[in-house]
Amino acid sequence: MDITKYQHLQTPFYTYNMDLLNKTLEVCKAEANKYNFHVHYALKANANNEILKAIQAKGFGADCVSGNEVLAAVKNGFSNDKIVFAGVGKSDKEINDALDADIFCFNVESKQELEILNELAQEKNKIASIALRINPNVNAHTHHYITTGLEENKFGINHWEILDVIKLLGVYKNIKLIGLHFHIGSQITDLNVFRSLCIKVNEYVNMFEEQKQAIRIINVGGGLGIDYVNPDEHAIPNFEAYFKLFHQFLEIKNYQEVHFELGRALVAQCGTLISKVLYIKEGLQTNFAILDAGMTELLRPALYQAYHKIENLSNTNTSEKKKYDVVGPICESSDCFGKAIDLPITKRGDYIAIRSAGAYGEVMRSGYNLREANQVNYEN
Ligand SMILES: *Cc1c(COP(=O)(O)O)cnc(C)c1O
Repeated sequence: MDITKYQHLQTPFYTYNMDLLNKTLEVCKAEANKYNFHVHYALKANANNEILKAIQAKGFGADCVSGNEVLAAVKNGFSNDKIVFAGVGKSDKEINDALDADIFCFNVESKQELEILNELAQEKNKIASIALRINPNVNAHTHHYITTGLEENKFGINHWEILDVIKLLGVYKNIKLIGLHFHIGSQITDLNVFRSLCIKVNEYVNMFEEQKQAIRIINVGGGLGIDYVNPDEHAIPNFEAYFKLFHQFLEIKNYQEVHFELGRALVAQCGTLISKVLYIKEGLQTNFAILDAGMTELLRPALYQAYHKIENLSNTNTSEKKKYDVVGPICESSDCFGKAIDLPITKRGDYIAIRSAGAYGEVMRSGYNLREANQVNYEN
């Protein structure tokens, strides 16, 4: 990697490879198109305006989990009939904003939300299209903090509530059921998990249709994982296998559409956090490489012990290596990007790249310790 191109920038900063983003989007789109699948981009993975514009330009829909995300999607050109809105705790203001934007679909997560949405839609004389988010009790086999489809999780409607909900649908006149929604977790790398999901989805769709509720939209959520260990070898996720699996295992009738909500798989690999080494602290057992980036720039390692590949861009001579605990400057022991990482001999001033940081990176940035938000770089 050519580091001279970074020398005018103040570290730490995010840099996005827009070429890779566009290629990833194109491959995803082409594979989804094979089966007429619809893909919504999950804005929460990265809501940077330039990224949103690039994704919108390729014709993706938007999957939002807050009112502000709905507004950001509209502002960046996503058409309202391709915006869906999920979330267990939608506030009245958020619901009203989304009603005003005439979004395609609310993914409703509880009986109470159904009641409130009906009330608010009635006040505006509107009929809100909804999909019910079902908790299918499928184990995503991913980190427990990013598992969402188990009965113990707060997300979605559980199977024992479904008949009650169907009764309510007959009472509430300002909502219209158009589909079912599922999202079982994130960073799922075992495609068998999605096969289990498909089998559950088929059962739920049949259950609703037996109750005379036509299910036109089947939204299977997102969660496709990426390769954090080998970001160069697997820069683009295997969308071909992913969509093919849903094509094989979902039982789709001719009036039904299949929708996806991908976040991480679309944006993770195009982003890198660039940082400089401030100090090297040599210990008896370990050496610390102390960076000018910390958990305030990239929270995932501290939040769920996530692994990111770390590279020294200034010294690429791998014939002599040392082990370093790569840490940030924040006053928390969890502010650590990796322990006992093999790096070429590393010194003050070296540029360090933290890879695969395009998803759940910049969006989770915080001002803790009164840290400043740095600039963002875009490259081809
Ligand atoms: C977070 C989220 C997604 C996207 O998840 P990824 O793992 O980034 O693909 C999709 N749908 C919903 C409802 C979400 O909350």
